[in-house]
Amino acid sequence: MDVEFLELTETSARLVIKGLTPAQVNALRRTMISDVPKMAIHFVDFYHGPSKEGKESTSAFFDEIVSHRLGLVPIPTDLSLFSRVDECSCDGEGCPNCSITYSLNKSGPAVVYSGDLEPAGHGGYKVKDSLIPLTKLKEDQSITVVAKAILGSGKEHAKWQAVIAAGYKFKSVLEVNGSLCNQCEDCIKACPRNIMAMSGKTPLITHLEECTACRSCADACTKKALKILLDPSEVIFKFETDGALHPKDVLEKALDLLEGGFKDIEEQVDTL
Ligand code: SF4
Ligand code: SF4
Ligand SMILES: [Zn+2]
Repeated sequence: MDVEFLELTETSARLVIKGLTPAQVNALRRTMISDVPKMAIHFVDFYHGPSKEGKESTSAFFDEIVSHRLGLVPIPTDLSLFSRVDECSCDGEGCPNCSITYSLNKSGPAVVYSGDLEPAGHGGYKVKDSLIPLTKLKEDQSITVVAKAILGSGKEHAKWQAVIAAGYKFKSVLEVNGSLCNQCEDCIKACPRNIMAMSGKTPLITHLEECTACRSCADACTKKALKILLDPSEVIFKFETDGALHPKDVLEKALDLLEGGFKDIEEQVDTL
């Protein structure tokens, strides 16, 4: 197996994977979507008494809607530090090894943003995307919330899904029949991605990873000299994260989980 990153940012990755079967690549994709854990807010307490300025503790939205929005805020996740709350030594009570507590205190008039969430005792876990609007407060309104984030996975709830838009395509292979091609270049003009050129007397795809296999080039060839085929042994894999995890961490965790799953089976087979 061979992996080459075409693009790697804090929230997205595009890579070429060679030597895996489509089933193996799909297993990787599905593990990233449903099994890789990440932090998300799961418990929210609203304080309903008057604020210290004497303002009413209420906002433009019902508490349930604010809670839902809090659940979708990307929470920075360090998979090497946190354990799942149901596997933690605190027996599910919630402790610094399995949860991050945030407080939110704001008085109106104001828009309450994700950046108003203050991590308690976990200074490094301030949310990175600070401009997600949560609710609005009028002059006489305020909000006081304590929220707790824990690890979960996409198969439990979409708020814990580590990746967004994870997908792959097979590498395109351009086949030109030299005895039929008259070098008219119609195929080159028809390519919507502008990624074709002549190489001597033969058209070729200059940026294969950009090809969408739309076959506009083949359709434009009246001589039927050109075919677009797909090579399933080489895939271009693309995914994004919401910023809670670095794409490389997601990939490594997914590979660990896949390996761990098969090791479990191997150990059980060994005991038979
Ligand atoms: S459209 Fe067909 S004939 Fe014309 S250059 Fe392309 S492959 Fe050759
Ligand atoms: S299949 Fe589509 S994107 Fe790929 S080279 Fe042909 S026209 Fe361009
Ligand atoms: Zn714990």
